[in-house]
Amino acid sequence: MTTAYIALGSNLGERAALLRGALAALERAGDVRVVAESAVYETPDYLNMVVAVETSLGPEALLERCLAVEAAHGRVRRERWGARTLDLDLLSHGAMTLQTERLTLPHPRLAERAFVLVPLAEIAPELKVGDATAGALAALCDRSGLRRIGPLAEGGGRS
Ligand code: ATP
Ligand code: CA
Ligand code: CA
Repeated sequence: MTTAYIALGSNLGERAALLRGALAALERAGDVRVVAESAVYETPDYLNMVVAVETSLGPEALLERCLAVEAAHGRVRRERWGARTLDLDLLSHGAMTLQTERLTLPHPRLAERAFVLVPLAEIAPELKVGDATAGALAALCDRSGLRRIGPLAEGGGRS
């Protein structure tokens, strides 16, 4: 079993419900278990959160699961970085580093994104991100555009 971290974002539709649906869908086959959830954060348009999972899946298979969950929740790929119902990014998979056409690990833009670092630091402050830790990077980043809403299970982030 490997611990992996997944960043989830939604900026269209019933956003909190989509995040809940995504977590349930990730776990449905029994080979991925969500073991920690950050609070939900709101940037002007997005709800974001990060989860830790324990999984028997390798990195490529876990990415495939993530992409399948996005597709099942109605994501239509138009332009990159465009609006989407659901975006699931694989941040890390154990200590794996990887760079293929389909998958780069750790996620290459992880260290520059407050909406990923801040929730990640909530659940894994000691996680190595390059030479630093998630907690150290989160403490340094500009979180002015980020509002902490609360746990998803407690209605975190209405919609
Ligand atoms: P960003 O990666 O900057 O957050 P994005 O999430 O909007 O951008 P997508 O359109 O969702 O980008 O993904 C494009 C492709 O990125 C995916 O089809 C996938 O193959 C690839 N990819 C590479 N590394 C990763 C990763 N660590 N997690 C998720 N997708 C990845
Ligand atoms: Ca993304
Ligand atoms: Ca993505």
